[in-house]
Amino acid sequence: MTSSIPIASTIAPSLSASTGATVELIGVVKNYGTHRALNSIDFSITPGEFVALLGPSGCGKTTALRALSGLELIDGGRIVIDGDDVAGVPTNKRDIGMVFQSYSLFPHLTAIENIEFGLRMRRVSASERRGRATEALDMVGLASFAERFAHQLSGGQQQRVALARALVTRPRVLLLDEPLSALDAKVRVQLRDEIRRIQIELGITTVFVTHDQEEALAVADRVAVMREGVIEQIGTPEELYSAPSTPFVADFVGLSNRIAAELVDGRVIVHGASMALLGEPMADGPVTAFVRPENVEIVSSGVPATVVSSSFLGSLRRTQVILSDDSLLSIQHHVDLRPQQGDPVFVRLTASPVSAVRRTL
Ligand code: ADP
Ligand code: MG
Repeated sequence: MTSSIPIASTIAPSLSASTGATVELIGVVKNYGTHRALNSIDFSITPGEFVALLGPSGCGKTTALRALSGLELIDGGRIVIDGDDVAGVPTNKRDIGMVFQSYSLFPHLTAIENIEFGLRMRRVSASERRGRATEALDMVGLASFAERFAHQLSGGQQQRVALARALVTRPRVLLLDEPLSALDAKVRVQLRDEIRRIQIELGITTVFVTHDQEEALAVADRVAVMREGVIEQIGTPEELYSAPSTPFVADFVGLSNRIAAELVDGRVIVHGASMALLGEPMADGPVTAFVRPENVEIVSSGVPATVVSSSFLGSLRRTQVILSDDSLLSIQHHVDLRPQQGDPVFVRLTASPVSAVRRTL
């Protein structure tokens, strides 16, 4: 049903932000009792930029958003929006729009009344309120759903209303905390792309929290990978994927084979391949290397292996093989090559640089 919703093609002028704000987090610390949820977080976001905060559950993503919004007071560092330290500024004065994972619409208000709510709080006149709320509803493709209550809307539609409600006050910054997590896969992708389209058209500075690496890579200008209260790496999706600066990032972003290898003279040596090491240099010795499936090839002669399975994924095929040492390797290759289960094949690692961690024997 959601797929048939018409998508508004232009953004109403009354919703356009003049320019997005700059947002800076400088050494931000947040403690919950003895637990340090944010351990000196630093990053800055340029006007109109879309940054995804990506990391496993419990790494501090929500805490970072709540600190930005003022819902959580910080224990150290500074948060600066458009050059102003917002330390003493309450949430409702920070000029921030928020969308959360769980549907947060007021159940006793219709879609349009939900969107008008923030304008009512700001004492915008009734006629202007209705006009702006209608434009916002149109922007998210729900013009004909104005009188519906939350229970009469699908999950995806409720999140569209929540997005319109967050944007109708023309905030300087948009914060989204796993807004798509509760939706099914197809709606999730549609809404994700639509959030991005609207964000670009409005030029609003946006922080999007997710634990889904594919989602982060798909929508963000830059992705900040978080782990246990710190940012491991911040970079464009391409940078994170091709040049992860830590093994955690290599493992968390994209698929990787974990291969037992040796570091010799600073290079990763395994299965006859010699690969440059990404990230910090390490002492020679046993390591686990993270090798992308597209950096393993099926060739006419090389390391012998046996095909375990092969799946057609539309534009490519992913084949799993087992080597004589019982290790499994995932290989990504062209669809024209159709290995069958049990086939003997030869594989080869390409010379692409890899991340690695020390391997204890
Ligand atoms: P994420 O959003 O990345 O899943 P959170 O920011 O919600 O993670 O939580 C980070 C850490 O802080 C977790 O260990 C969590 O248990 C803890 N935490 C979050 N909120 C509170 C709170 N109100 N009181 C105590 N601990 C909290
Ligand atoms: Mg969270």
